[in-house]
Amino acid sequence: MNPEDITTVKSILSQPQKIAIIPHKNPDGDAMGSCLALYGFLKEMGQIAHVIAPNDYPKFLKWMPENDSVINFERENQKAVRLLEEATVIFTLDFNDLSRVGQMETALKAATADFIMIDHHQQPSDYAVVTYSDVSMSSTCEMVYNFIQFLGETDTITKDIATNLYTGIMTDTGSFKYRSTSSKTHRVVAELIDRGAENMEIHRQVFDTNSPSRLHLLGVALSNMVILQEYRTAYITLTQEELDTYDYKKGDTEGFVNYGLTLEGIIFALIFIENKEEGIIKISLRSTGDFSVNDFARNHFEGGGHINAAGGRSELSMEETVMRFNKILKTYKSELNP
Ligand code: 5GP
Ligand code: MN
Repeated sequence: MNPEDITTVKSILSQPQKIAIIPHKNPDGDAMGSCLALYGFLKEMGQIAHVIAPNDYPKFLKWMPENDSVINFERENQKAVRLLEEATVIFTLDFNDLSRVGQMETALKAATADFIMIDHHQQPSDYAVVTYSDVSMSSTCEMVYNFIQFLGETDTITKDIATNLYTGIMTDTGSFKYRSTSSKTHRVVAELIDRGAENMEIHRQVFDTNSPSRLHLLGVALSNMVILQEYRTAYITLTQEELDTYDYKKGDTEGFVNYGLTLEGIIFALIFIENKEEGIIKISLRSTGDFSVNDFARNHFEGGGHINAAGGRSELSMEETVMRFNKILKTYKSELNP
């Protein structure tokens, strides 16, 4: 964050504000962790704040401190719309384009509040008075820690705030192993542990709570995997019917896409998941090395994200989507397997 932006934020927070904090649609650990941590911090600063999630999120994130205060835009729509109308400041966390909040986009566009963006995805849009965007960061949670540090307030980090920040850094770095995990990330994490984050317990809450439905679905996903060695690519499909058969619950397929990358020689992995209710195929893309799935998702599947992790969508059927994907893949042969 540049000194001017820090001064702007300090001046904004020196006055009592009505604050809304927004994660992206289908929020993940980093989105919820950063929002809940910022919520805790702003409360410590004496501000009135609300976290408003565009929609529901998985059970493995619902143990997080302050989770009970989260307002679900879909379920508590009137209250959420009112809070967005009344807000004087809106923080948008872990996303950088207003199209990432689904149905909440209209209410955000109509809001008169000053926007503050904190985010680490590629190609930020220009909607905020303060844009703290850094694609080199491991996670938005690491950035929220920096944000608190820029304000000179690290002493206000409580155990709850530390727990939420730790959760987001852990989930977004694949437990501290992805490329964006820096020595600075580890220093932040060490500080969070000193401030009360219980690393073993957090890991257990997020990763050791498999349900039978999730493990059964993993079995289906892995047996559906198609491996295209000549493109160094592996993809998985899961149809709505398969999800229904195994009693799918939100979050059950989290992390499945990564299995493709554990195969020797595979550098590009995808999962296509049918969502009949929304009439789309949701796509998650992962890569290792220089192949940019951000570009791939942006150019072909209305999505985006990071170089090595991105998401997108298709409004075709599963069969048509996979056919289209295979066709597109052909044009990437020299890039994927030079
Ligand atoms: P996931 O595959 O886990 O849903 O998302 C991987 C990364 O891509 C995350 O950082 C997520 O925020 C981003 N992402 C997921 N879906 C979309 C999308 O539809 N559009 C954009 N721009 N980013 C996405
Ligand atoms: Mn993130």
